Amino acid sequence: MAQPSMQSAYPEVHSEVRKFISGRSRRMLIDGKWVEAASGKTFTTYDPATEEPLAEVPAGDKEDVDRAVRAARKALESGAWPRTTPSERGRMLWKLADLIEAHGEEFAQLETLDNGKPVAIARVADIPLVVDQFRYYAGWATKVEGETIPVSIPGQRMLCYTRREPVGVVGQIIPWNFPLLMAAWKLGVALACGNTVVLKPAEQTPLSALRLGELITEVGIPPGVVNIVTGLGETAGAAIASHPDIDKVAFTGSTEVGHLIMQAAGKSNLKRVSLELGGKSPNIIFADADLDQAAVGAANAIYFNHGQCCCAGSRLFVEQNVYDKLVPRLVEYSEKIKLGPGMDPSTDMGPLVSSEQYQRVTSFLKAGKNEGAKVVTGGDRPKQLDKGYFVAPTVFTDVKPDMKILREEIFGPVVCAIPFKDPNEVLAAGNDTEYGLAAAVWTKDIQKAHRLAEGLKAGTVWINCYNMFDAAAPFGGYKQSGFGREMGKAALELYTQIKTVWVNLGEA
Ligand code: ADP
Repeated sequence: MAQPSMQSAYPEVHSEVRKFISGRSRRMLIDGKWVEAASGKTFTTYDPATEEPLAEVPAGDKEDVDRAVRAARKALESGAWPRTTPSERGRMLWKLADLIEAHGEEFAQLETLDNGKPVAIARVADIPLVVDQFRYYAGWATKVEGETIPVSIPGQRMLCYTRREPVGVVGQIIPWNFPLLMAAWKLGVALACGNTVVLKPAEQTPLSALRLGELITEVGIPPGVVNIVTGLGETAGAAIASHPDIDKVAFTGSTEVGHLIMQAAGKSNLKRVSLELGGKSPNIIFADADLDQAAVGAANAIYFNHGQCCCAGSRLFVEQNVYDKLVPRLVEYSEKIKLGPGMDPSTDMGPLVSSEQYQRVTSFLKAGKNEGAKVVTGGDRPKQLDKGYFVAPTVFTDVKPDMKILREEIFGPVVCAIPFKDPNEVLAAGNDTEYGLAAAVWTKDIQKAHRLAEGLKAGTVWINCYNMFDAAAPFGGYKQSGFGREMGKAALELYTQIKTVWVNLGEA
């Protein structure tokens, strides 16, 4: 059993987190009740810093997804949710934000134990962003408006108006890199717009979503409105994507699985789909940038969350005449990063999330070396850590355009540094990818900055900054990074549908 090893490894773990992990995580939320999987099966999640088992959670699959969809449908069509006023929905979301904030330390620790991220970062980044997300959409609950349309029908007076109605029962499939935050991005807006939800957290990191489920019931969100089914992607996830009675599926994860989700939607009931997928984001530094700021920016762009960010700045383009100045600064920064268990408050970078992810990232490191790229720092697991899925911050130079490390998403703390000569060349190189999630430009020249911002084919462009997020600012992909925008007003489009109503007012 997982518990004893966790207790001895981390004496400082919050008592509520211990209690949750040692029992309550074995049930999932369906129709307002905490239940085991229909099969009675569970699966184990692991602490990536120790490679030890952490918790047992239900291995939900098709039968459980069916139960959850029936509950969500009932809550949508005949349950308490349609009778809840927008103002009440807003208040519940706000209250949920308050409760998450009050339990912030527990959530930060759950994220760290399950995902590996430093608890110091979960406290100041993940959890406050989650709270903001629910507060932001609490405000929208009362502002989901239709329009009156000035129509022109000869000889007739007509009133034509639109209603913005919920899409219905929504399936939400969540990744493991920001477990609670990705759940919040999807849940806040879905609930504000009046939908009901079947949410599946990633099998690597299901704990914070289950704990969130407890707070969802505590704030009085009615049974069946939010159902949380834990399980594997190929079983529970696939059952959501192909379910005939789910109206929309929202997915964040790999581009490979994104293709499967669309196929499943097409083969089943043409459910609406929104996808937030992989990336290979160009981070472009011009010689006229503030190079101190840009060097730190380049490091944070790739190393934040250990490079396990779909928008990680994994292709670093540096103007030729400052390349030899900037790369050493990045290397120096990389070598100062303190790796260790996320629960240690002095840790800058924790382990990768799983053994599978460790294998994946280290296979890219091998591929880079075999293809002839040069490792200027890192390139392997750090010598001082013999346990846990740790990979040292790594900078590759001498990278050629067709190398695997430059073309494919690595999803680890690995950056390719490439020199360039002029804005046109770097714009073409930056866009030479199947992805288009994010990009950044560092320069003091505003003309150049905005021209690049226009030319880059990416859903977000940061200028003289990186990894800026706000509940009010839309986020999503171009090209194979997906479609649909999460956050901000834009996300209402994903979770509402427009009904046009015509009223005959008699002859003109
Ligand atoms: P990664 O490869 O980085 O683990 P995935 O895209 O596999 O990312 O996982 C993201 C989410 O998608 C997880 O919740 C996972 O369970 C789910 N998932 C994986 N495979 C499938 C699938 N075939 N159908 C639906 N969901 C899936």
